[in-house]
Amino acid sequence: MEVADLIAAHVVDVPDFPKPGVLFKDLTPLFGDGPTLRACADAIVAAAGPFDLVAGIEARGFIVAAAVAYATGTGVIPVRKAGKLPGPTTTITYELEYGTATLEIPERAGLADRRVLLVDDVLATGGTVVAASELLWRGGGRVVGVSVVLELAALGGRSRIANTHSNLPIHAL
Ligand code: AMP
Repeated sequence: MEVADLIAAHVVDVPDFPKPGVLFKDLTPLFGDGPTLRACADAIVAAAGPFDLVAGIEARGFIVAAAVAYATGTGVIPVRKAGKLPGPTTTITYELEYGTATLEIPERAGLADRRVLLVDDVLATGGTVVAASELLWRGGGRVVGVSVVLELAALGGRSRIANTHSNLPIHAL
């Protein structure tokens, strides 16, 4: 089966989660199926250019990142929500529809001058990826690509990323 068909067979749409009006893409069955998780990791690796480190966005991005890292013998840097890391950290605060959010990366992950592949489960509006890539650049890394399992194309995340990081390859399985 093609990876896109495997993904489609292992994603459940959950209406009104975590709040009314959101159609949540639940990848739990995908993560729970070994061949599908492996096929996703392999497809991300096949589509990406060379990289030295995989950045995963909390929390489901960690699962994808670890699989991609294992497949390529690279390491992982976690992009975390505020207050989870002991420090020292590099931090970014960015605008949400209502209010702001903060992401942090650890300074001890050996990011300097390394080519970073940024991965997550779902690309929606792109705000998280834009903030995470800015953060990784601030931390001294070189973001060379973005890979996600699912892209909600109608939400325009791809063009939002292109507006701030032009020429950054974005790949969705
Ligand atoms: P965004 O910043 O709008 O691109 O949102 C992306 C982040 O929120 C990712 O870390 C996703 O895991 C999560 N996310 C946003 N929308 C959804 C959705 N409809 N289903 C599942 N996860 C979502």
